[in-house]
Amino acid sequence: MQTISYFPLAPQFTSTVNGRPVLQIGYYRYYRNNRSRGRKATWFCARNSSKPGCKASVIVVDGMIVDVKNEHNH
Ligand SMILES: [Zn+2]
Repeated sequence: MQTISYFPLAPQFTSTVNGRPVLQIGYYRYYRNNRSRGRKATWFCARNSSKPGCKASVIVVDGMIVDVKNEHNH
């Protein structure tokens, strides 16, 4: 498991009861963008589809977090 020092809580890859992939970082959950292909995937905050949508996102390459936009509106 990759641990990134600036996260107070280690990110965890898990899944919903429906089998949907979930990235959990602290209190926030992220869902993978269905349009993401190949090695690089963008994960959006679970509140992304609610209104107003949360713009926070995480970039994952080969299962490792490489970038985080930690701009939650909630
Ligand atoms: Zn958010």
